[in-house]
Amino acid sequence: MTRYIFITGGVVSSLGKGLGSAALGALLQARGYKVRLCKLDPYLNVDPGTMSPFQHGEVYVTDDGAETDLDLGHYERFTGVPARRHDNITTGQVYTEVLGKERRGDYLGATIQVIPHITNEIKDFIHEKEGTADFVLCEIGGTVGDIESLPFLEAIRQFGNEIGTSRALFIHVTLLPYIPAAGELKTKPTQHSVKELMSYGIRPQILLCRADRPISQDERKKIALFCNIDEEKVIPALDVKTIYEVPLSYHAEGLDCQVMNSFGLENTPDLDLSKWERIVRRIKEPEGAVRIAIVGKYTNLADSYKSLNEALIHGGIANKVSVELNFVEAEVFENADPLSYLQGIDGILVPGGFGQRGAEGKIRAVQFAREHKIPYFGICFGMQMAVIEAARNLCGLKNANSTEFGPCSEPVVGIMTEWLKEGEKEERSEKTGKGGTMRLGAYPASLRESSLVAKAYGSTDISERHRHRYEVNIAYREALEAQGLIFSGLSPDGKLPEIVELADHPWFIGVQFHPELKSKPFDPHPLFVSFIRAAIEQSRLV
Ligand code: GLN
Repeated sequence: MTRYIFITGGVVSSLGKGLGSAALGALLQARGYKVRLCKLDPYLNVDPGTMSPFQHGEVYVTDDGAETDLDLGHYERFTGVPARRHDNITTGQVYTEVLGKERRGDYLGATIQVIPHITNEIKDFIHEKEGTADFVLCEIGGTVGDIESLPFLEAIRQFGNEIGTSRALFIHVTLLPYIPAAGELKTKPTQHSVKELMSYGIRPQILLCRADRPISQDERKKIALFCNIDEEKVIPALDVKTIYEVPLSYHAEGLDCQVMNSFGLENTPDLDLSKWERIVRRIKEPEGAVRIAIVGKYTNLADSYKSLNEALIHGGIANKVSVELNFVEAEVFENADPLSYLQGIDGILVPGGFGQRGAEGKIRAVQFAREHKIPYFGICFGMQMAVIEAARNLCGLKNANSTEFGPCSEPVVGIMTEWLKEGEKEERSEKTGKGGTMRLGAYPASLRESSLVAKAYGSTDISERHRHRYEVNIAYREALEAQGLIFSGLSPDGKLPEIVELADHPWFIGVQFHPELKSKPFDPHPLFVSFIRAAIEQSRLV
């Protein structure tokens, strides 16, 4: 029997609902249950793929090629369960589906309305998960009170009624702001938020209260009284040092116990959370430190590179070091000497990116890493920039560039017009629409024996997630390899370069895919483990 847990948010956004859901998922797993997490996003975009990282943070790509919300990354990192296309739905998708049915005549004769047509579509999405896990955790994006959220709240209310209280649980995440002048945490916004939720017919059974300091028993009592919730189900969710401490902290505050209790399930007192304790200990008590420069252009919004930041931390966990991330805006290198920004750095990473702004700066960062023999990790755009740098400065092709920035005479990186996906040909052109049309999702690659990457992976057959429209042009392979830039990973048909590495360099790797998406704290990605190890070696040289 599948039980459903709905997680809503109140008061303000960015309360860490996604992390909270992921942490609860991990705690239920530790109790031996099979979990599945999904996210319902009220915005109108069909998916976040067309949004700027500044708007919505990172786009998380699943193996089956969906561009999804970054919370799915938290779910996968915390539970190890690979996220799927059908774990994320948006208002845009719901309407596309309903309007498609209307045009086909599926509802002939009916007037199409938000209730029941839109809400039914949302409920179908939730129903689809039936039988796939013991617990399905559904996070509702946005904040209670948003106009866009209403159909989703109505849908989960109906869904909860239909399956009954023994199978549905509502958790509301709120904020208790601290007011220095009063010297206390304020409960009023939480009271209002619960009241709002109740006005939609949803009574939360558990409140997860975010606060920056301990919540007193009196305050918990007050919240319980005003919000009509059992006192022990008002759970403090205090700020912690590392996100990987969240499962431990929630467990200590009784969240998973109260979930068991709400469903009338047996409460095993001694949970084995040693896996999380080990990770937290490694993060809090490192035996050394390395400094990594991330040269990108969405550097002032940490969420833009969410999975990347985490994967680097995972590399640190594996090597028992802390990883200091220095974000450098690529454009600064267009006028300044990289040395002033990159002195004392143990590793340089150019992450994924789109568009011309900052590209020349990234190329200079690559050149600096190559010439100074500093470990370099180029991811997707970062690999493309590395190849352009080598083509210009090692092969003497001064006009080498990517056609992403316009026509050029040496298209070392060019648009992909066709490729194979699971044996079927995919075709694109410059004119193809922008939504969901990149090379997306998991693709296999074959690695060259005894290459640096093959050693890092411990294998010559890999599968990694992609999200790009342009590709390194295989026609330049011979010229580049003659100068030491080895094409050490290729698509199985040998047509698409997947990995390049420099022969005469301690650690210089560019990958066309996004390895950061699959890294987990308890299963760090081999390339990040290897990169951080190289950075440690570098730090010993300085
Ligand atoms: N803009 C590049 C492309 O579309 C790289 C994309 C990326 O880094 N994810 O190919």
